[in-house]
Amino acid sequence: MKTLTARQQNIATRIDTQVALNNWKDWKWQRKHVIKSVDEFEKITGIRFEKPERDKMIKTTEKFPLSITPYYLSLIDVEDYETDPIYLQAFPLPSELDIQSYDMSDPLTEDKDSPAPHITHRYPDRVLFHVSNVCSMYCRFCTRKRKVGDIDSVPDRQSLMQGIEYIKNTPQVRDVLLSGGDPFLLSDSFLDWILSEITAIPHVEVVRIGTRTPVVLPYRITEGLISVLKKYHPIWINTHFNHPRELSPSAKIALAKLADAGIPLGNQSVLLAGINDCPRIMKKLVHLLVRNRVRPYYLYQCDLSEGLSHFRTPVGKGIEIIESLIGHTSGFAVPTYVIDAPGGGGKIPIMPNYLISWSTHKVVLRNYEGVITTYKEPDSYKPYFCDRDCEKCDKHLPLDEAEEGDIVGISKLLSDADDTIALTPENTERIQRRKDNNS
Ligand SMILES: *Cc1c(COP(=O)(O)O)cnc(C)c1O
Repeated sequence: MKTLTARQQNIATRIDTQVALNNWKDWKWQRKHVIKSVDEFEKITGIRFEKPERDKMIKTTEKFPLSITPYYLSLIDVEDYETDPIYLQAFPLPSELDIQSYDMSDPLTEDKDSPAPHITHRYPDRVLFHVSNVCSMYCRFCTRKRKVGDIDSVPDRQSLMQGIEYIKNTPQVRDVLLSGGDPFLLSDSFLDWILSEITAIPHVEVVRIGTRTPVVLPYRITEGLISVLKKYHPIWINTHFNHPRELSPSAKIALAKLADAGIPLGNQSVLLAGINDCPRIMKKLVHLLVRNRVRPYYLYQCDLSEGLSHFRTPVGKGIEIIESLIGHTSGFAVPTYVIDAPGGGGKIPIMPNYLISWSTHKVVLRNYEGVITTYKEPDSYKPYFCDRDCEKCDKHLPLDEAEEGDIVGISKLLSDADDTIALTPENTERIQRRKDNNS
C-alpha cells in the first residue's frame, strides 16, 4: 500500500505479513497489535538491547507496563533511537524505578477530590469525568502512572451513571471534561450514549474531551466517530502533542477531520527533559499546531508522580520557553505554562515578569525585546462600590435564571460585597491558641 511509509510497511509485515498492510489504518487492528513487551519491541524494530539494560527494562515494565501502538512505534527513528523523542515517551527506562522522597502516587490528590465514582470536582463550575480506564499507548510520563494498566476495562453504564447523577445534582457544573484513560478508546455507540446523557442536563453548557488518539492512534478519528461528535456541539477537544515529530501526515489528517467537524481544538503539552525542553523545539511545535488549526492551550510542568523524576526540568526552563514565545510569535500560538499544584490546588499559571515597577499613577513595563516603557494610568477613573447587586447596576449584564456561585479565593478579598479581610491557614499554632482560648 503506497500510502504507508517504508518503516510502516516494514513494521506491518513483521507483525502480520500481508494482512497488516491492508489493516494498518484500522484503529481496531492497531489496538489488537499493540506492542506489550521488550521482546516484541526488539523483534519488530530490530533493536537489540544489552543484557543488563534489558533486564532492568523488563523489571521496569513489571511495575509500570508497556504498551505502544504499531503506528506510534513507526515514528521512532530506529537508527538513532536512544535520544528519539517518540522512543523516550513510549519505552520504559530503568530510571522510572528511582522514586524520590518527594514523589507521590497521587500528587494532585484526585482521589480525594472525588465526590462520586469517576468524578474529580476541584473547581467551582467544572468537573473531570473519567469515563475510560483504557489507553492505546502508555505514556511514560503519565501523571496517573499509579493507575496505568490497572483495570484495563471500560466502566459499565451503571457505574458511569453514578457520575452522571452527580453532575445532574450539581447545578454549578457548566463544563464537563471527559478524560480517562482515553475517552476515544470507547466505542462510538458508548460515547454516543455518554454524550447524550451529559448534554441532556440543562445546566451543562459545554463538553470537553481530552484525548491523545490524534497523536498515538490517529486512525481512531473515523467518519463514524465524527458523526457522533457532531451531534453534541458545543464540543471542545484537547489533544496532547509534545514534539514536532508527532505531527505526521496521519496525525494531520485526524486533526483536519476534527476541525472540519467544527470542533475547536486545543493542545496540552508536558514539559519533558530530553524531549521538548528547548525553546526552538517548542516554537516549531506550536507553529505546526496552529497550522493544523490547533491552539496551544497549556504547557504543563511535569507532575511529582512516582517514576517521573528523570522527566522533570527546573521551572526556569518553562519560563525560558514562554519568554521565547511571547512577542516573538503569534499570541494564539503561546500556551499558558502551568504547575498543577501538589496537594490538589489546581493549575497555577507561571509567566515571566513584564510589570517591573509602579507608582500611584504609572506602571513601568518591559516588552519581549527589553524595551522599558511606562503606562500612565487614568486620573479620571472613579472607583465604584460594587455590592454585586447586578439588577441595580447600569452595565447591562443580561441576567438569566442561573444563580451566580459564591465569591471565592483572592477575588473574595478584592470584592466590596464580602467583608472577609484575610484568608488564614487553619493549621498554625497561633490559630490553634485562638481556638483554645475561646473554648
Ligand atoms: C485541569 C482540570 C480541569 C480543567 O481546568 P481548565 O483550566 O478549565 O482547563 C478541571 N478539573 C480538574 C480536576 C483539572 O485537573
